[in-house]
Amino acid sequence: MTCRFRTMRKPDIRCPACRWRPGAEARWTCLPACGTVWNTFSTGGRCPGCGARWHRTQCLACGVVSPHRDWYRDPDSAGGTTGRRELVTAR
Ligand SMILES: [Zn+2]
Ligand SMILES: [Zn+2]
Repeated sequence: MTCRFRTMRKPDIRCPACRWRPGAEARWTCLPACGTVWNTFSTGGRCPGCGARWHRTQCLACGVVSPHRDWYRDPDSAGGTTGRRELVTAR
């Protein structure tokens, strides 16, 4: 008997704008296409009703529309520094 123990590593999903984390109960609506209501992060941005791929996801908390990929924060890439650097030059 093989015991397959998969490491269920959940990606950290957060709104890039306000850092709101959508829970399992969060729902999005496929509009103006088919009107299906589902959790877009359970399907990777794909509508289960019409199969449309949503590349952008609106935050239910702050309303900002961000690219779907930007919501995923890969825990592996969190090696200390985030890719974004703010450079302030004073003149
Ligand atoms: Zn749809
Ligand atoms: Zn937000």
